[in-house]
Parts: sequence; structure tokens; C-alpha cells
Amino acid sequence: MKTRSKLLIIDDEPINIHTLDGMLRDTYEIIVALNGKQGIKRATSIPPPDLILLDIQMDGMDGYEVCRQLMQNEITRSIPIIFVTSLTDEEDERKGLELGAVDYITKPYRPSIIQVRLRNHLELKHKRDLLNHLCSHDALTGITNRRGLELFLDKEWRRAERYGDGLALIFMDIDHFKNYNDNYGHVAGDECLKEVADILKGALTRSTDLLARYGGEEFVCVLPKTDLAGALLVAQTLRSAILAQAIPHEYSQHNCVSLSFGVVAHNPVKPKWYCPMEFLEAADKMLFKAKKQGRNRIVS
Ligand code: GH3
Ligand code: MG
Ligand code: MG
Repeated sequence: MKTRSKLLIIDDEPINIHTLDGMLRDTYEIIVALNGKQGIKRATSIPPPDLILLDIQMDGMDGYEVCRQLMQNEITRSIPIIFVTSLTDEEDERKGLELGAVDYITKPYRPSIIQVRLRNHLELKHKRDLLNHLCSHDALTGITNRRGLELFLDKEWRRAERYGDGLALIFMDIDHFKNYNDNYGHVAGDECLKEVADILKGALTRSTDLLARYGGEEFVCVLPKTDLAGALLVAQTLRSAILAQAIPHEYSQHNCVSLSFGVVAHNPVKPKWYCPMEFLEAADKMLFKAKKQGRNRIVS
């Protein structure tokens, strides 16, 4: 867990920034922006801020517009925004909250109230983040789960359609894993699954590639902007990485843990599949062939 939360203050009055910064810098890491445009840019910095304090009246883009744009951006929409403003009208506050801000604080500042409100909103934000993480990640291996995979694949499918990029899938399954469990026990089976996930993850080099646990001993890799030749290279790398670790499995044909691989690539210009589900099924079919042809191999 992070120790210090990161706050972004967007305000065109240096004196306001100075006041808030003085109040908060002992507790939080503070970054600032002096106008809306800069604020939107800072909001996408890495790691992103945990919360944004936003002024309304600013030259150029006002705070409402900044809020609107942050809410529309997939990267920033989950960052809570608190308006900090001298506008005390009911109508202004309603507008701010309706745009999606989590809170609305009016000047003059009451430092102790600001501190407590921030703490409460940050706690909620961290719980939301944790919930999102748990919904899309597998508890045993820590990698993306089936739900996370489907969301990611949907998004990448649409991106590929939009830009005419290739998109590839690798469907993998551990060979004779039932024998592994039956002979070494379920706990050892779980350890093996973790080790396999770690090896596969470690062997992927592109940060845009996603590895997911699809179910039991099945894994799927999504490779954006990748054609069949590229995907086959990745599958070979993954297969070699697993064999190189030589995890003992006396009850498998090769005496060590191996996987079978099904590989497919989607070309949006000449499509063979019309939705992500069909695409996944096609990869699963290739995997089935790899199993039938003797396992520990790649079929595309
Ligand atoms: P094949 O080579 O054809 O893939 O055969 P297999 O034995 O690997 O496949 P099968 O589908 O018959 O068995 C899969 C086994 O995976 C059954 C189950 O005991 C095990 N398994 C599934 N999920 C888990 C898990 O979370 N932990 C453990 N330890 N085992 C699991
Ligand atoms: Mg201002
Ligand atoms: Mg299996």
C-alpha cells in the first residue's frame, strides 16, 4: 500500500495554491497546475493523483469544463474531484456536484474541515480501487482474471477495428494437470499455477500485452498490434520459458510441466471472426488441436 497519497491542486491564483499547499504538504504529496489545460495534463501523470482539488473561476478554461473533460477521459474519470471555490451559490454547487465532483468546499478555508473531508474521500477512493482490482484479478496468481480479460479484449478489439491494427491471442493450458494435483496434492497444484503464471508473465516483454488466468489451469495472452508471425514468436518464447524452468512433473509425458498453445490473429481488414467471443473460441479450438496432436506444442 502507498504511504502518501498524491494530490493535484488546480488553481490560477498562486496564493490559493500556497495556502492549500501549506495546509496539506505534511500529509500528502502535492502537485500543482496554474490553469485548466495544465491541470488536465498533470491529471494523467504517472502515478496519477489520488484526488484533485479544483478551482472554478479560472482564466481560459474554467473548473467546470476541466471537470467535464476529466470525467470524459478514461484515464482520469476515476480520480475524485473536489471543487474548492469562493462561489457559494446553491446553483454553482449543484452544477459542480452534478458534473461528477465528489465534494464542494467554499472559501474561506477551514483547514481542519478540509483535512477531514480529504481523508474521508481518499479512504473511499482507496476502497473503490481495491474493489476494482479484486473484481478483475485472480486471487491465487495475482494476474488478470477472466472478467478483466474480457474487458481488456473488448477494448482492444474495438481499438483494432478503429485503426485497422492486428490483434492476436494465445490460449494456453497446462498438460496433464489433473495428474499433477492427484499425485502432488492440491496445495502443490496451486503453487505450480502460481509459478507458471510468474514464468509466463516474466517472459512477456511488451507492457501492452496482457496475461490472464482464464479458468483452472488455462491462461490467455492478448497481444495488441500483433500479427500471426509475431504471436507465434511470443508463444515460442512462453513455451521455452516454461520448459527452461523444468518444474518436475513425473506424471506427465515429458517429466516436467509443459503447456499446449493455441494461437490466432485477427486482421480487421479481412476479418474471420466478428466478435471477441468468436475470436477466443477460435484460439480455444487451436489449443484443442494442440492437445490432440500430443500436447507441449503450438498450433495456429
Ligand atoms: P490436459 O493435458 O488435456 O489439459 O489434461 P489436464 O489433466 O490438464 O486437464 P483436466 O481438464 O482434465 O484437468 C484440469 C485439472 O486442473 C483439474 C483440476 O484438479 C485442476 N485445477 C483447476 N483449477 C485448479 C486450481 O485452482 N488449483 C489446483 N490445485 N488445481 C486446479
Ligand atoms: Mg481562480
Ligand atoms: Mg490441462
